[in-house]
Amino acid sequence: MLKQIVDLHVHSKYSRACSPQLDLPNIAAACNKKGIDIIATGDFTHPAWFKRLEENLEETSEGVYELRDPTLALPFAKGREIVAPLLSKGGGRGRSHVRFVLGTEISCIYSHKDKTRRLHLLIFAPNLEAVRKFNAELEKRGVNLKADGRPIMGLSGKEIVQICLDIDKNMWVVPAHAWTPWFAVFGSKSGYDSLEECFEELTPHITAIETGLSSDPTMNRRLSRLDNITLISNSDAHSLEKLGREANILQFNDEESLTYAELKRIITTGDRKKFLNTIEFYPEEGKYYADGHADCKISLTPEEAITNKLKCPKCQRPLTVGVLHRVVALADRDEKEIPKNKFIPHQYAVPLLEIIAGAFRVGVASKKVRAEYESLIKKLGAEFDILLNIPIDKIEGAVSNKNIAFGIQNMRAGKVAVKPGYDGIFGVVDVFSDKKYHRPVQTSLL
Ligand SMILES: [Zn+2]
Ligand SMILES: [Zn+2]
Repeated sequence: MLKQIVDLHVHSKYSRACSPQLDLPNIAAACNKKGIDIIATGDFTHPAWFKRLEENLEETSEGVYELRDPTLALPFAKGREIVAPLLSKGGGRGRSHVRFVLGTEISCIYSHKDKTRRLHLLIFAPNLEAVRKFNAELEKRGVNLKADGRPIMGLSGKEIVQICLDIDKNMWVVPAHAWTPWFAVFGSKSGYDSLEECFEELTPHITAIETGLSSDPTMNRRLSRLDNITLISNSDAHSLEKLGREANILQFNDEESLTYAELKRIITTGDRKKFLNTIEFYPEEGKYYADGHADCKISLTPEEAITNKLKCPKCQRPLTVGVLHRVVALADRDEKEIPKNKFIPHQYAVPLLEIIAGAFRVGVASKKVRAEYESLIKKLGAEFDILLNIPIDKIEGAVSNKNIAFGIQNMRAGKVAVKPGYDGIFGVVDVFSDKKYHRPVQTSLL
């Protein structure tokens, strides 16, 4: 069995507000450090990025690609050096651990049922030919693909699903960060109350949604109408260091079965033998968890927001209604009513840089934090291994500050204190608190 950590939503340097470091070799090297095995290419509608994909990637199994030159994926975390060539392929070249699948994000802004809708969708393709056709279809409809790696278009979510199906039945549409206020299928500002309202008779083709940083599977599972939808978790990284901050752990039988079709099958069917779990942010850490108004530094619970008639108590402008509020408003059952053992499990993680920064009591960007991070990767292995698997005593032996090991231990035990994010401001997770994490129980709104 081949366990793979999978991140299906990332961006390249061609997307707005994204790091110029996000080029293929850097992404592969960062995946090696993080322990990500399969990553989406991102941005495949952008002509310059698509050219890079064509030039630098080689299909190594159906719909799965690797860097033509695996040495470009340097440097490596311990244990992730270039591996021997596959016997079945016979070639003399080794390969890196990192595999790519063709996946991107688009932004649909259109009017539907008397409202302006703004929807981000993930689009996956089984091969470069399908991507070429998809890009051509968008250009035919006047979409400017050069402007942004995440292009904006006036097409509806449903039209996009139809375009994909017409090109190749293995293309696949997944609503991105489904609950965020501004650009999501269930968003408070411009979304819908159900998938059916959005995708109408094409809804059966929507088999998965991305939970986004501000919601977790437990929140999503309060909607029984999502029972047949698989929940996936991805980073939506705009910089190398954010890759894999949320991810999926899938299992494949062997190298041969590691194909795009199998990846899509596992997720689409919610195959619990193969979809082991998702790795999640504490949803409070997401920047749209609570309701609030950032300019006034006001953060409110859904109940408080309703009491204040959804207005900022300081300046009276409309609040940004967050993810929790939307989930509670659309939920039809309590957390305790969620069927047990029916869904893919999840676990929470806090990025290693944040734990190190907390231990040193300095900012994440500080040189000291970076140096310790690099040193631990070299000594112990990939970040996911450090966060999830490596025994604490071994970590204690490698860190320069014992608090780091203590923080990781607390994180694994769920001993964290969280301060919720709101209106674009990230929440804060403290792994040095002694409290056991308790999700505040939200039953229903007034
Ligand atoms: Zn997005
Ligand atoms: Zn205000």
